[in-house]
Amino acid sequence: MIQGAVPWPKEREEEYARECWPNKNFGQVFLESVTEHSERIALVEGDVRVTYRELGEKAKSLACGLMNLGLKPTERVLFQLPNSLEFFYGYWACHLAGLISVMCLLPHREKELVYLANLTEAVAYMIPDVYRGHDFQEMAGEIQAQCPTLKHIIVSGKARGGYHPLDELLKSDVRGDQGFPQPDPLEVAVLQLSGGTTGTPKVIPRTQNDYIYNNQAIIQRLAFTEKDVMMVPLPLAHNATLNHLVHPALLTGGTAVVCRFDPEAISRTIEKEKVTHLFTVPTIFYRWLEFPDFDKYDYSSLRLTGTGAQKMPPSMAYKIGNKLPGVFLQVFGMTEGVVLIPRLDDTEKTRYETVGKPISPWDEIKVVDEEGKEVPPGELGELICRGPYTIRGYYKAEEYNRKAIDSDGFYWSGDLVRLDEDGNVIVEGRRKDVINRGGEKISAEEVEDLLIDHPKISRIAVIPMSDPELGEKACAYVIPEEGAELTLQDLTEALANRRVAKFKYPERLEIVDSFPYTSVDKVSKKALREDIEAKLLQESKK
Ligand code: AMP
Repeated sequence: MIQGAVPWPKEREEEYARECWPNKNFGQVFLESVTEHSERIALVEGDVRVTYRELGEKAKSLACGLMNLGLKPTERVLFQLPNSLEFFYGYWACHLAGLISVMCLLPHREKELVYLANLTEAVAYMIPDVYRGHDFQEMAGEIQAQCPTLKHIIVSGKARGGYHPLDELLKSDVRGDQGFPQPDPLEVAVLQLSGGTTGTPKVIPRTQNDYIYNNQAIIQRLAFTEKDVMMVPLPLAHNATLNHLVHPALLTGGTAVVCRFDPEAISRTIEKEKVTHLFTVPTIFYRWLEFPDFDKYDYSSLRLTGTGAQKMPPSMAYKIGNKLPGVFLQVFGMTEGVVLIPRLDDTEKTRYETVGKPISPWDEIKVVDEEGKEVPPGELGELICRGPYTIRGYYKAEEYNRKAIDSDGFYWSGDLVRLDEDGNVIVEGRRKDVINRGGEKISAEEVEDLLIDHPKISRIAVIPMSDPELGEKACAYVIPEEGAELTLQDLTEALANRRVAKFKYPERLEIVDSFPYTSVDKVSKKALREDIEAKLLQESKK
């Protein structure tokens, strides 16, 4: 296993390998699926349809192109491609070449990327040329100047001198299937990013065995088959999208449909492609429901729709469930591992008001108080979990791991939940210091750390404020330096100068003289949250 990743204890490893892990790597599973489903449609984007055979050929060529550049198994590739067919080619090519993709988000900018490249000692960086007006090649140059290991920039689109055009690598000669490396199933397959609660983003190592098994368990719970046409209008790099589209399509021989996130595209694509499974975050469901032409389209192909990454109030779940054909359910997942999903034949109450139960019989969950003692059924506590696909540690984060994972190997999720009378989990809130903006997580501490040196800021506390569409947005409470006049624009300009992802920018500023404190002299974010919610309520009445 690569240095910095934490393995399962030996006895657990043996148990999982015997009981549930596939003991295969993604490259193997990919080639098996391509052979078995060769003439089925693997991918659809607009009017372009790609069969498994074509997907296999492209991924193999690109994998050979990457190996010809000198990239070696287990080396890390910063992966930052937008939703596109190239994403799939690049993602599966990295698996075939035994490379470990670091799944960056498109909004990530220099600050996050330099940190990730250096932490993971990335040797390559896969990007679009320009996306939504942002010049990724220019940014790549700046990142490369600060990361000694980063040798290869691979560009989808028009590559500048010295950078490798993805199109050219896609034409590389293929050595036979035997010529691909075979990573150990216990090895890290992908490095995912955590929205995290700390000043610097945490990196989540997902192994070949655990990630494949995680998906097999989802496939079983949701009864996916090769007949499914899956659509997840979310960034492909997210764990939720890998779990509900990229991996299950491949593992079953189903079809993955790439779709824009706007309501019209969602409606049109469901009708045109006869989509059977739609998964997305609550925010996108809300926007979609408000689409004036919603009722003009045919959704009868849908057998399953699901939402997750953020709490959806039951009232909205009933509304959506009643409007769409097939089964609607709420999913709870985390990039760190454990996934909870109701069963397809659970009652509406269970599917709409709870997130059901863990998907694997080897998942262990507990609801505990702050000392780790299980609370009585029905009472609120923190969800902690361990199992065959829940990490035993973040990547290169020894000190933090001692806090996040207890001595029994349970991961403390920071989510506050309770169990209903049947043992289904209801998510009530969270203890962790995170803003959940439309499913995208923002670490409050990270934003505070980036702004605390601002000359006009004396103290800062970033908190979530509720938002009808996104669920939450970031709000900054600031005690300014004496005499300083601070505006929200000052904050956004400072963050733009630090080159961080835009979704982390606070969207409201509250200037205060002092902060409320808890009994242990910590800033009481709970009191600040109550304050902003009271203000929002007041304003909504005006
Ligand atoms: P991520 O790793 O970005 O997917 O974030 C995982 C976190 O998202 C969880 O720890 C929860 O805080 C939150 N989350 C995921 N699914 C749900 C859900 N159905 N309801 C409420 N919160 C959720």
